[in-house]
Amino acid sequence: MKEGIHPQYEKTVIKCACGAEFETRSTKQDIRLDICSKCHPFFTGKQKLVDTGGRVDRFKKRFGMEDNK
Ligand SMILES: [Zn+2]
Repeated sequence: MKEGIHPQYEKTVIKCACGAEFETRSTKQDIRLDICSKCHPFFTGKQKLVDTGGRVDRFKKRFGMEDNK
């Protein structure tokens, strides 16, 4: 039997440019982000980055990290 027909959801680590890391499951390995919930101005309260157009929201949806606040 040849493998590879179905995507393999391996545990992988998403690394952000700020140094934060998140564990998730994905078919991709070594995922890198420019911004995450730890360095996004909305969460940090600092204006160190310009508007990023909801990239964190998309990130959360993609990786199932919706918070339950
Ligand atoms: Zn970050």
